[in-house]
Amino acid sequence: MVPPIYESTTFKFTDATAIPPAMSGEKGYVYSRRENPTVVRLEEKVAALERGEAAAAFGSGMAAISTTIFAFLRKGDHVVAIRDLYGGTYNLLHEQLPSLGFETSLVETTDESALASAVRKNTRIVYIESPTNPTIKLVDIQRAANIAHSVGALLLIDSTFATPINQNPLTMGADLVLHSATKFLNGHDDLVAGISVGSKDKIRTIKILRRDLGGVLDAFPAWLVLRGIKTMALRVRTQNANAQALASFLSKHPKVARVNHPGLDSHPQHTIAKKQMRGFGGILSFEVKGTKADAIKVTESLRIASLAASLGGVETLVSQPHNMTHTQLSPEERAQTNMPDTLVRVSVGIEDIEDLISDFDEALSSVA
Ligand SMILES: *Cc1c(COP(=O)(O)O)cnc(C)c1O
Repeated sequence: MVPPIYESTTFKFTDATAIPPAMSGEKGYVYSRRENPTVVRLEEKVAALERGEAAAAFGSGMAAISTTIFAFLRKGDHVVAIRDLYGGTYNLLHEQLPSLGFETSLVETTDESALASAVRKNTRIVYIESPTNPTIKLVDIQRAANIAHSVGALLLIDSTFATPINQNPLTMGADLVLHSATKFLNGHDDLVAGISVGSKDKIRTIKILRRDLGGVLDAFPAWLVLRGIKTMALRVRTQNANAQALASFLSKHPKVARVNHPGLDSHPQHTIAKKQMRGFGGILSFEVKGTKADAIKVTESLRIASLAASLGGVETLVSQPHNMTHTQLSPEERAQTNMPDTLVRVSVGIEDIEDLISDFDEALSSVA
């Protein structure tokens, strides 16, 4: 019932004719930077959850994202991405890729026509997230896929915030789905991991570069993610419901200026959410009515929720983009993507919802 942890660097052969098929990845194992049985078990599980053919697991979400992007870029290629990106991905696309000679264009996240006019003949990758971090904007996945494919580009989507329980982008035309498995897949805030899911051919290409760049996942955290996945459906359904209830409570609170959650009727893209998501996710963000200091006070006054980076675990965490998750962006860049200094991101856990609501109510009452 429980897979073993193959915590082994290497694998012993008794028959040398078994070496070539193991080296080619066809059958058997040679060395754990290439493949490891526990890690493969995780890859098969996540591929099935995402309705993909295959998957490649990595030592972090960023290793999955960077290796996947680099696996398909060749000299002269161009990348288009939405502006609202995870901080690390923003840096990768906005700083690292241009410094290596790749041209990247960042477009307004919710503007489909901007995306359509940014793609060119040499665009190789269109990169999106949905829902986005921490602004909780959505991208119409099917339409983004059509735009990418119109110029022969691949659509890559970071679906970490949605989880495979709430959304399956491969069924809507995306070519590769990325997850920080650190978050909802594992769900317990006790490891760092990442995964890329897609067709057999594309995952083979990614695994060759993974072997050469070396960002593979180790067997033990792979085993922990496998265990975490067993309860993912239960956790995520509770998080969906808790986030929906907290969002609607906050949207009526006098100290709250604005709430971002795709499950609210007031979300400007609620129709897209209903079209492409089965559940609306455990992440919301809200703007405190007041100053930056007031918002900081709210985050420090919570007693059940913790002020901590990361998301997707069973405990509720809050953070702010200006001092934690999006310090890479200048204040102007943050303003451009609707991340005021009063914005608080909440990763809603599985606590009793009445306890959570009173915690936020009391914390908000601490500001004048
Ligand atoms: C956390 C996160 C990442 C990066 O994952 P790591 O596991 O921290 O490397 C990428 N995208 C999103 C949306 C994330 O939340």
